[in-house]
Amino acid sequence: MDPAAARTALEHERDRLQRDLAHLRGDGEAEPRDSADRLDQGPDDAVATYDHDFDETVAEDLESALGEVEEALGRIDAGTYGRCVDCGGEIPPKRLAALPASARCVECQRKRER
Ligand SMILES: [Zn+2]
Repeated sequence: MDPAAARTALEHERDRLQRDLAHLRGDGEAEPRDSADRLDQGPDDAVATYDHDFDETVAEDLESALGEVEEALGRIDAGTYGRCVDCGGEIPPKRLAALPASARCVECQRKRER
């Protein structure tokens, strides 16, 4: 994959993730319907607690995805983009096209997830 095209794709992805994170963190402050829902539920806040936990998980996923995107951008700067961080082998262009933030070749990723 052309590094310039990869950079553009990654920067778009980073912007999107940052926007999602900001939206997630901003929720609850500026959403009047949220407090209306809570009034309907009365003193039992189990649902609200569940929602909060869920948002945290989503935020963590977004943050880790954002970290991967930033690392990939760093590899473009370093000139090592498209190389597996574990074995140094080439990451197949198809994989990069599908997942521009890929840090590992298919084989190393599989080993890591095992
Ligand atoms: Zn590898």
